[in-house]
Amino acid sequence: MPTVRRSVALLGATGSIGTQTLDVLRREPEMFELVALSGGEQLDELAAIVKEFGVRRVGVISDGHRHTLAALVGADVDVVVGDEGLSSLAASADIVVNAVLGFAGLPVTLSALKAGKRLALANKESLIAAAPLVARVRSTPGAMLLPVDSEHCAIHQCLASSPGEPGYPDVRRLLLTASGGPFRGWSRDQLRGATKADALNHPTWSMGAKITIDSSTLMNKGLEVLEASALFDINVERVEVVVHPQSIVHSMVEYVDGSVLAQLSRPDMRLPIAYCLGLPVRLDHGWGAIDFTQDLELTFEAPDPMAFPAIGLAYEASRLGGAAPAWLSAANEVAVAAFLADEINWCDIVDVVARVMDGYVADPLDSLQDLVANDATARARAHGILDQ
Ligand code: NAD
Ligand code: MG
Repeated sequence: MPTVRRSVALLGATGSIGTQTLDVLRREPEMFELVALSGGEQLDELAAIVKEFGVRRVGVISDGHRHTLAALVGADVDVVVGDEGLSSLAASADIVVNAVLGFAGLPVTLSALKAGKRLALANKESLIAAAPLVARVRSTPGAMLLPVDSEHCAIHQCLASSPGEPGYPDVRRLLLTASGGPFRGWSRDQLRGATKADALNHPTWSMGAKITIDSSTLMNKGLEVLEASALFDINVERVEVVVHPQSIVHSMVEYVDGSVLAQLSRPDMRLPIAYCLGLPVRLDHGWGAIDFTQDLELTFEAPDPMAFPAIGLAYEASRLGGAAPAWLSAANEVAVAAFLADEINWCDIVDVVARVMDGYVADPLDSLQDLVANDATARARAHGILDQ
């Protein structure tokens, strides 16, 4: 099908989602033109992408990084810095892929929607923390928020058969599937001995370190409950988590008549990325295609709330509302970083988050300043607990 070539800004280009997005773009040079990039610490990789795709605008995190990158890519590439740089890049293309890690992705989410762009959102942390602020900018003419996260992308596809009335009265539940991570079936006692290598060994997905740890604690699924609620404007009480170890059914929607629609594929993030880039065109790559002539076992079970209290914390944060989801996500970022730096044990991750949440005092979250202040407070509390 002939299409207009669309410009793409890929922010967080050197990470797991970033490099898989590049893979999609490499195969569709007629459909997409990569015009802007950003990255964190991996400047050699960033420079290689700039050269391969002929990109002219790049964002980095500091002036020092700007000097280093400029030396690698030459003077005709415009290198911008910090949140302001990210915001300007996110307003500069038809499609913006937010593959930045953590709260640092917030300027991308807000700026892309404010500028009326299509936002292919992998960075769930920004949506979870800033849900009320995102809701305001989503109605900008032209703005479109599409979820790259595989579960939410699945739900987006399943909801295509709903008339899409506000609040989805025809939908009973969103069923978010979870692989269960590497510790599925482990008891609380066994989990006390979990190592970093164990936690980084995800059974079905290959992802960046932070989300891999989040998948081991099931905090990723807790965050995804909040993400689903914000994306589809549905109360968390209508979002349910189902453990599905094979990661073939990426999520489901149950309608009020009892019908359940699901989206299936082999686990490959290039599929939801390509869906978000191509919509309404489905790109013909066969990523994730299932061979139904081979034995295919699909099993489902309930998550274990005693071994994995993170999911409960997320529901509670949603009930508290206001800045509570921002606190949860910020405290979790700090705790996961401490775990990855070998400063705490695996069980401490969610304990730290729970202790931070115990100190949450209701705060409505009306502005970006409120959010930034709350994020800083939650991080300071988490660091305070870690220092003890
Ligand atoms: P990653 O760590 O592999 O990559 C993160 C990218 O962000 C890199 O380009 C890094 O340089 C950049 N970055 C890191 N810190 C930054 C900062 N402070 N400022 C600016 N840039 C920074 O992470 P990932 O696994 O690709 O995940 C990215 C996002 O996508 C996360 O929000 C994650 O939850 C979400 N996600 C990832 C997957 C997956 O399969 N990896 C699946 C679903 C959702
Ligand atoms: Mg996911």
